[in-house]
Amino acid sequence: MRMLARFCMATSLLLIAPRLFAQTPDWKQIESEALTTLQAYVRINTSNPPGDVTRAADFLVDLLKREGIEVKRYESAPGRSIVLARLKGSGSGAKALLLEHHMDVVAADASRWVRGPFAAEIADGKLWGRGAMDMKGIGVTQIYAFLLLHRLKVPLARAVILLAVPDEEVGGALGAQWMRANHYDELDPEYVLDEGGFGSRDMFTPGKLVFGISVAEKKIMWLRVRAEGVAGHGSQPHPMNPNDHLMRALNRLLSEPMPAGRFAVIETMKARIGPLADNKFNNAIQQSTISITSLRSGVGDPPRANVIPSVAEATIDCRVLPGTSAAQWIKEVERRLADQTIKIEVIYEGDDPVVTPQDTRFYRALESAVKRHHPDAVVTPMVVPYGTDANGFRAKGVNSYGFFPGIASAAAIGSMHGDAEFIPTDAIAPAIQILFEALRETVAK
Ligand SMILES: [Zn+2]
Repeated sequence: MRMLARFCMATSLLLIAPRLFAQTPDWKQIESEALTTLQAYVRINTSNPPGDVTRAADFLVDLLKREGIEVKRYESAPGRSIVLARLKGSGSGAKALLLEHHMDVVAADASRWVRGPFAAEIADGKLWGRGAMDMKGIGVTQIYAFLLLHRLKVPLARAVILLAVPDEEVGGALGAQWMRANHYDELDPEYVLDEGGFGSRDMFTPGKLVFGISVAEKKIMWLRVRAEGVAGHGSQPHPMNPNDHLMRALNRLLSEPMPAGRFAVIETMKARIGPLADNKFNNAIQQSTISITSLRSGVGDPPRANVIPSVAEATIDCRVLPGTSAAQWIKEVERRLADQTIKIEVIYEGDDPVVTPQDTRFYRALESAVKRHHPDAVVTPMVVPYGTDANGFRAKGVNSYGFFPGIASAAAIGSMHGDAEFIPTDAIAPAIQILFEALRETVAK
């Protein structure tokens, strides 16, 4: 009997030991692996335009195949590769969780960078380079959380999909949108995680650690406003100069403060955080905004100084808070412009805002994983001022979140699309750990 007991104990220890060992990743090792991967990934120039991501897709396919993960590859157009890897679930009925990131980056003017945009140098605790934050760095945290589920053989109740897409920086028509239109059956997720929110000690309010999980986006309305007038000789001013009309109208457009609508997610943010810091990010999420992005006029190239043209145009990028319809917004723009000679044309209209609920298993898992590691942190749903690929899933009823569970300063967040983009190197491993734990809680059997 005793012999048997001892035998049983020894056997069960043998059985348990590898499992315990396997469940505890070596985070130092993961950190150095992830940093090396991110450096290699940033060094692949995927500037968009031209937006060719072939080599980045090759890189990710190799990485995933080396781990023994099956990978599918699509091409929406030449150079527009899409990588899809799946960890299969048990098929218990729950739909998949999709981790999505974009491989393309915005262009970089190397002459304005102190460190090369594709050198991926690590210095001062930062990894510098185009895409370090937006969004190869975030993508790498997704990749390692995904790999850990696979390496540790976490039994999955639902599939976890890793999707890397091109084309996001120019609207996503040949990336996420193309996948949704052509291969939705391959995705069909209950949850999507993409870029959007983040943790920060100074972005939301100074001195308070806040993790914002994006649950909604503002509506994008790109407009062209066009003043039509009468051409003539510059020596004889007349009242039908379209430049005068356009300038005065644009001045009226901007001179009134933007309408500050009440939006439930913002109210929740303010209730949890207190007043938001005065910065362009927080200002943009609390109101509808207008940026004049181009002005075009004149006759000839270069434009003649002595000719009054017959047409002057501007493009304006409007981001409209949920609660205002496209028709209401155009009426508002029309009222502000207050000029009958000006026509408004909609160049692009984004989806109507849909708010993803917070009362879901994945949101709660993200929140509790953050709280486990940062007991003092405030976790809040948030709105992001920009658009992401994740938003298109919301219209399909998918619970779509935008979140990087690492801590980034306002400077790091603000460096996206700038001439000195970086990600703090110490943000990466904790982000992988929080994401891994939240995934495990959401998808494990
Ligand atoms: Zn991005």
